[in-house]
Amino acid sequence: MILNRTKFKDYKNLKLGTRIINNTSSKISRLILVFLLLFSVHLVSGQQEEKTHKCIMVFGAHADDVESLAGGTFAKYIAMGYEGIYVDVINNLAGCNLEKTPYFKGALPFTISNSPHAYPVDALETSQIREEEALKAAAVFGARPVFLNYKEPWFSMGRKRIDYGTKLYGQYAPPGRPLIALATIMSKEVNFVLDLLKLHKPEIVIIHTLGGEKLDHGNAAYIAYLAFKKAIDQKIPVGKLWMAVRGWFSEKYAQENERGKPDILIDVKDFLKTKYVAYNKHISQNGGFGRDYVLSNRKKNYNDEVEEFITVIDNSK
Ligand SMILES: [Zn+2]
Repeated sequence: MILNRTKFKDYKNLKLGTRIINNTSSKISRLILVFLLLFSVHLVSGQQEEKTHKCIMVFGAHADDVESLAGGTFAKYIAMGYEGIYVDVINNLAGCNLEKTPYFKGALPFTISNSPHAYPVDALETSQIREEEALKAAAVFGARPVFLNYKEPWFSMGRKRIDYGTKLYGQYAPPGRPLIALATIMSKEVNFVLDLLKLHKPEIVIIHTLGGEKLDHGNAAYIAYLAFKKAIDQKIPVGKLWMAVRGWFSEKYAQENERGKPDILIDVKDFLKTKYVAYNKHISQNGGFGRDYVLSNRKKNYNDEVEEFITVIDNSK
C-alpha cells in the first residue's frame, strides 16, 4: 500500500516538472525542478526503508489453533489498534466428530442419539464445519481470516480413516495445496506464504513451536519461518517472529537446561474473555468449553493469564 502511494507521489512530481519545463525557462522554475528531483530521490530511498505495519499475524495449523497458541496476545494487540491476521494453515480434512462432542477428558456429555461412541465426520464436511467455526472466531477478535488450505497426512471418509500414501488417498485425491510437510521443501509454496507477509508487512508473527510437537504444527511453523527468512532476504519489512513454548521445549530437560526458557511474556489477564469467547466458537472441537479443554491438556501449574513465547528472529532492530 505504501509502495503504491509512493509511486503515485513520484508520478505527480514528474507531471509537475514536465509542465514547468514547457511553460517557462526561468531560474526559479529550474530550482523548483531540481528540488522536485531531489524530493523524488528521497522518496525512492524512503521506499527502501519502509517500515512494518501495525499488524499481528498468528499462524495456527488447524482451525482452532490461533486461540490456543496466542489467543490472549492476539486480542491484546488488536485492542491496541493492530490489524489482526488469523491464519489457518491447514484445510482440516480430519478431526471432527458427530456425537460425543466435546470428547476430551472430563467434558460434559453431548449426544443426540445417546451413543457412547464418537463418529468421525467425513472430510469435506469437516473442512466446511471447521472453516465456519474459524470465521466466527476470527470475527470475535475483529481479525481478518486467511485460509492457506494445506493438507494433513490423513483425512476421514465417513467412518474410514485414509492415510497419505495409500492407494485410496490417491483415488480420492482430497482437495487443497500439498501436504504441509512437503510444502516446506517447495519454493513455490514458501513464496505463497511469503506473499502473505508481503501484503501485510507484520510487526509480529506468531507460530507453533518449531520441531516441537505435532507434525502439522511443526511444519505449519516451519513454512512460516522459511517465508519470514525469505522476506528479510528480500528486504520486505517484517518485525519479530515468536514461537510458542510447547513440545520438548516445555518439557523437563529443556526447562532444566533453559533451551525452553521464554523471553517474551505477555500479560493477557484482561483478554482471556475474548480469547475464550473466540475459542468456544470451535464447537466441533471443544463443545463451547474452550477453557476446560485447554486446561485438560496442560500441566496443573499452567497459568493462562500469561502467554509465553521464544523469539526466533528479531528483525526490528
Ligand atoms: Zn492443531
